[in-house]
Amino acid sequence: MKQTQQQALQIAIDGPAGAGKSTIAKLVAKQLNLFYVDTGAMYRAIAYKALKNKILLEDELNVSQIAKTTEVVLDHSDERTVWCDGEDVTHAIRSPEISRAVSTVAAYVGVRDRLVELQRREAERGGVVMDGRDIGTHVLPEASLKIFLTATLQERANRRWLELVKAGKNVLFEEVAQDMQKRDRQDIERKVSPLEPAQDAVILDTTGVSVEEMVAKIVALTQEDGR
Ligand code: C5P
Repeated sequence: MKQTQQQALQIAIDGPAGAGKSTIAKLVAKQLNLFYVDTGAMYRAIAYKALKNKILLEDELNVSQIAKTTEVVLDHSDERTVWCDGEDVTHAIRSPEISRAVSTVAAYVGVRDRLVELQRREAERGGVVMDGRDIGTHVLPEASLKIFLTATLQERANRRWLELVKAGKNVLFEEVAQDMQKRDRQDIERKVSPLEPAQDAVILDTTGVSVEEMVAKIVALTQEDGR
C-alpha cells in the first residue's frame, strides 16, 4: 500500500449521503487504531451556527465570515462529541433542518478553505480515517487508500429514515429520500470540490452488504501491496 511521506496511514472515504461512510469509517479506524475525522460534522456545525445567528444561508460573505471565526472541535473519544465554539452540538447538527441547510454553506469557498485547513491539521496528528465528499480528491490527495462508497438511493434513504425514527423523529420516508437526493445534487454540481470519486479511488457498493463485510474489505485493502 502507498504510504504518505510521513509514513502515517491515511484512509480517505468519500461518497454520497447515507452510503455508510461514518459507520464504516469509525470501525475501520478502531480496528486499525487510527483517528477518525468526520468532516461532514464540521460543515454541519457551520450551518448550525449560521442558522443560530439568523444569517441568511444565501449570504456567502457572512457565512464565510462565520466559518473563519468558529472553533469546531471533534472529540476523539468514543463519545465523539462535536463542539462548536464550546457548545455541544453533537445531536443538534443531525436534524433534518441542518441536513437541508448544510450543502448551501458547503458550496462556499471561504467555508471550505477554513474547514480544509482544520481537517489537514487533524491529519497531522497521526494516522487517520477521514470521511466526507472531497477527501480523496482535495483534502488528502496523497492518502494511502481512497475509497468511494455508494449504494442505491432507496437503500441510503432507508438507512437515514430508520436512524431518524430510532431517534424519535416523526419523518416521512419520501421526505428523507427527496432531501437526500437534493443534497447529493447540490454536492455533485457545486463548483468547488464537488462530490466525485478520485481517479485512484476504489469504488465499493454497500447495497445489501453488511457493515462487518465492508469493514473487513477495507482493512484487507490496506494490507494489499502496490496501493
Ligand atoms: O457527511 P455528512 O452527510 O454529514 O455531510 C453533510 C454535508 O456536508 C454534505 O452533504 C456536504 O454538503 C458537506 N460536506 C462537504 N465536504 C465534505 C464533507 C461534507 O461538502 N468533505
